Amino acid sequence: MVVGKPFLTVEQIQRRVNELAGSISADYEGKNLLAVGILKGAFIFYSDLVRAIQTPLSVDFLIASSYLKDNSTGQVRIHYDIREEVADRDVLLVEDIVDTGVTLNYLRERILMQGPKSLRICTFLDKKERREVDVPIDYIGYEIPNEFVVGYGLDYDNRFRNLPYISVFKKRT
Ligand code: 5GP
Repeated sequence: MVVGKPFLTVEQIQRRVNELAGSISADYEGKNLLAVGILKGAFIFYSDLVRAIQTPLSVDFLIASSYLKDNSTGQVRIHYDIREEVADRDVLLVEDIVDTGVTLNYLRERILMQGPKSLRICTFLDKKERREVDVPIDYIGYEIPNEFVVGYGLDYDNRFRNLPYISVFKKRT
């Protein structure tokens, strides 16, 4: 297994996180923001992002995993659910990476059923070319090609999450 040089450096990550936080701060001024981090992958991005957001907010988390059933349909399992009241709140879902869109689409529809005042999605990385389900994304850190990446919270087999940068992961054959 090889983790190579940075694909996105610490500096690039920091700069983009601050830009995203600037947009979010402006858009949520005077609102009742509930920022929901999707664990585990978003834990580092989420904590950097909320610390850079200038408007008051409440935090909560959601633990979800997706897995393939019958080699095609993605199924999503919730291991920990949002505990804050969602109804009438301005909810911002914070994700590490969107790939097929199956996970986010499922979570989005589930939250919408609880009647939030608004629901927006922020993802640090977006593999747009892999999308199977069309899910609206309001804030995107970086669009990346179809490569498996690790670091900055993202894992391979729950490893490499603590790399401070994003790297392309290759399995040695
Ligand atoms: P989706 O439901 O959009 O297909 O999958 C989203 C989830 O797949 C992400 O939250 C993440 O856990 C995982 N994932 C997708 N692409 C990558 C990747 O390049 N690297 C890592 N570490 N996880 C990924």
